[in-house]
Amino acid sequence: MSDLIEVSGLTKSFGDTVVLQGVDFTAESGTVSVLLGPSGSGKTTILRSMNVLETPDAGLVRIADASIDFGSPPTGKAAYRRAVKALRARSGMVFQSHHLFPHKTVLGNLVEGPVQVQGRPVEEATADARMLLEQVGLAGREDAYPGELSGGQQQRVGIARALALRPEVLLLDEPTSALDPELVGEVLAVIRDLAAENWTLVIVTHEVRFAQDVADQVLFLDGGVVAERGGTEVLTDPQEERTRRFLARML
Ligand code: ADP
Repeated sequence: MSDLIEVSGLTKSFGDTVVLQGVDFTAESGTVSVLLGPSGSGKTTILRSMNVLETPDAGLVRIADASIDFGSPPTGKAAYRRAVKALRARSGMVFQSHHLFPHKTVLGNLVEGPVQVQGRPVEEATADARMLLEQVGLAGREDAYPGELSGGQQQRVGIARALALRPEVLLLDEPTSALDPELVGEVLAVIRDLAAENWTLVIVTHEVRFAQDVADQVLFLDGGVVAERGGTEVLTDPQEERTRRFLARML
């Protein structure tokens, strides 16, 4: 069982809108998977399903040793809650906008989850947080408040905060799309570093050139299915007409 991530038969509708129609993919530890595709194709719903921020109608999500088969989930509220908690703990989410606590310092934002949610000692969580801030290039900004930072810096804190919970996998949902163009590069650089350090990443992004650099696997979503998949050749030499059309619009 070498795959760290396994998603299979994922389906999801919102009312009458069918959003995912049987999405399958696997990813090995230390790899970068890029989800690409037109707006509304279901990319965000896949990420949110992996973190159980959405409840799929059916299908399996497994990350490391935690899994839920949403077609036949554990019976009983307590058992289901335990399974959700276990699966959630395996991944960290980075959103378009960072959702930092505005009234807490940068360090406070990073320490909050590990201490309050995971019950880790404050000293340990603080030491971890300092290391993570160094990793995202923000050593020395521990005592700043989010409002005092640029959008790019805030997003880098967002990444550090997701990592502070020590997930197996980082799920990044268009991490640069809310940023001013001049701030995109610094956030992509941090993500590149994480990829180089063999973090397992699943990224929804429209940054095609960045995807070419970091992706081990590219999944092109269209209409709630994986319409094309492969390595970066999906970006450079797409086989499907709809992938070609999409990329022509992006580049
Ligand atoms: P993408 O990330 O590829 O743009 P999404 O996964 O965000 O696609 O959305 C896919 C479709 O699901 C869209 O049509 C969107 O309007 C719909 N959708 C997403 N979330 C909800 C929701 N909470 N309620 C109703 N419809 C939703």
